Amino acid sequence: MSDPNVLLRLDGVVKHFPIRQGIVVKKQIGSVRAVDGVSLEVRRGETLGLVGETGCGKSTLARCITRLHSLTAGTVTFEGQDISTLSRRQMRPIRRDIQMIFQDPYGSLNPRRRVGSIIGDPFAIHGLADGPARKLRVQELMELVGLNPEHYNRFPADFSGGQRQRIGVARALASRPKLIVCDEPVSALDVSIQAQVINLLERLQDELGLTYVFIAHDLSVVEHVSDRVAVMYLGKIVEQAEADQLYAGPRHPYSAALLSAASVADPDLADRRQRIILSGDVPSPVNPPSGCRFHPRCPKAQPRCAGEDPDLVSRLDDPSTHVTACHFPVVPGDDLAAGRVA
Ligand code: SF4
Repeated sequence: MSDPNVLLRLDGVVKHFPIRQGIVVKKQIGSVRAVDGVSLEVRRGETLGLVGETGCGKSTLARCITRLHSLTAGTVTFEGQDISTLSRRQMRPIRRDIQMIFQDPYGSLNPRRRVGSIIGDPFAIHGLADGPARKLRVQELMELVGLNPEHYNRFPADFSGGQRQRIGVARALASRPKLIVCDEPVSALDVSIQAQVINLLERLQDELGLTYVFIAHDLSVVEHVSDRVAVMYLGKIVEQAEADQLYAGPRHPYSAALLSAASVADPDLADRRQRIILSGDVPSPVNPPSGCRFHPRCPKAQPRCAGEDPDLVSRLDDPSTHVTACHFPVVPGDDLAAGRVA
């Protein structure tokens, strides 16, 4: 029987995009392995931070969770129900409960529509309210997210970047969802505005009992919002832990490198911290490296790493909530252990 505290569960989720060639007859010549076997759970009321470099597959995973993408393999279970193979029509009632906030507050809003109409979309799509009742509920949402309800008839261009992201948040809240997948919701915003939007999301979580999957490419962005953090590299989760465990002592060399690059408010700590520079770019997901996918860039790589893909399991004396996919994890005193505790 499924655990009622688990709102979302992924089991071996795979998403490959075929690469086709040919003019008349298109032949598949390969595939982009964007997500390659991700399993994780998200508990009710928590925030799971999902972090990795651009191109690691985290946005594709977000679209698998929300079923904007079909899955190549694996299952997505929401509130105990397998939603992996539901049709668009079957997904419609579930879409009320799973909403998404997109990265680009400029591109995700239709510039020719008034914000009242944009925020009111879910009321129309799900038949929740119309006419004056819809307008009233939209204005309540605008107030809830810190927008002036009197700006109901304005266009997106009349708002700043931070305000536009608030419009995106209001639209996501309209159907009273249980889960919101926030796909890099602040990365297009100025640092000062980022804090405002993050604080807003935290306040709404407390007030409305929301559950978040919060995606970012920078560990510092998710530090204060996440209860747990999963680090993704080239389509796979390489480390997952309670947030304080991961920030105090990352085990995977990739997590250690990400943490060393994350910004910190304390200038003394920033000066003392040793930045771990990774060589090369993220390899192509069309033809990922053998064994541990991180081995061509890993400062700790050994011959075993190229031949044997490490399982995501608890290492050393870590608690079972801290799992790492690495044959030679970072240990205290290691050069790579410099992260947040330097
Ligand atoms: Fe580095 Fe080897 Fe660990 Fe992969 S398995 S992260 S290459 S030490």
